[in-house]
Amino acid sequence: MPLKLPLLPSVAPATPRAEVVSPRSVRLSLTDRCDLACVYCRPHRHDGYVDAEKRLDLASWTAMIDGLVHAGVRRVRITGGEPLLHPGVVDVVRRIASLPLVEDLALTTNATRLAELAAPLRAAGLRRITISLDSLEADRFWRLTRGGRLARVLAGVDAACAAGFDEVKLNTVVVRGENDGELGAIAEWAWARGIVPRFLEVMAVGEGAKMQDRVVAGVEMRAALAHLLADDTPARDPDRGPAKYIRARHDARKRIGFITGTSDTYCAGCDRLRVASDGTLRPCLATEDGVPGEAAARTGDPAAVAAAVAAAWSQKPDGRTFKGCTEESAARVSIRAIGG
Ligand code: SAM
Repeated sequence: MPLKLPLLPSVAPATPRAEVVSPRSVRLSLTDRCDLACVYCRPHRHDGYVDAEKRLDLASWTAMIDGLVHAGVRRVRITGGEPLLHPGVVDVVRRIASLPLVEDLALTTNATRLAELAAPLRAAGLRRITISLDSLEADRFWRLTRGGRLARVLAGVDAACAAGFDEVKLNTVVVRGENDGELGAIAEWAWARGIVPRFLEVMAVGEGAKMQDRVVAGVEMRAALAHLLADDTPARDPDRGPAKYIRARHDARKRIGFITGTSDTYCAGCDRLRVASDGTLRPCLATEDGVPGEAAARTGDPAAVAAAVAAAWSQKPDGRTFKGCTEESAARVSIRAIGG
């Protein structure tokens, strides 16, 4: 029986994507595999992966990246699934970092393998890294990730701090009744390490579709953090995604980010495309639409990839809405598959 996902009452009507004629930023889901099973992301650890023969190989990833740049992409984030499980991740980073037209290269990771890989990734040219960490309490971390070991992740955080990245950020998805009492502690812990903490609302994708009663809205997060925050209006970094930041009350060099994908909509001006691990080009996080890009990547011809990119971009919806999703379709827009 398909589950009717709830309409999100606070989401504004679809916003025109206006004059963005081609993607400028891309998220590459290098692999849909992950060694954790976060409760808002997937139902369990054995929910299936893309068939091995459908995954892009390294040559196809290289051609895909060249084609994306040919199509106008200038900012790249490597994600997944868990990108550090991909045996070629350092090579992919090195390849992208060598492209003069790429202005920004970042990676999002759960940090379980970061203790080993932080230094090689930095040496390969990675400049910015985002680490997902939902709790500083080992039992809660284990529960939220269905078996993750906090100590390994903290070792990864230490390695990232030592590796000399331009920026280390933390993503904490806030789940009511779990980690919503930890926000201040996480923010101060991150600041003490030179990390920018960011708090995310649970979005109605993947398992998050079934958890909308546990969303903590950004305004509520800000109230819980009011003692740490200046009385500023949250502001986005130009060209840097949907997060809005507020400076710390007592130190303007520190700040906290909020990603309010449920209570807010930030589709206007969205210039982001996603590439799934099988090469599907996905124009929006919240839809099932997509264009196969694998065959174009296999040709090795950047113009062929750019044509597939244009076809995918023409499917970009005017505004994101999770309205009308069924349980089945929400699973198909699993953030793990298409690049969170
Ligand atoms: N494995 C990597 C990681 O954990 O950072 C990269 C992929 S993960 C899908 C990327 C980000 O998406 C993580 O910060 C994760 O917490 C977030 N995420 C996944 N499902 C979500 C949901 N339903 N709502 C909000 N954020 C979600």
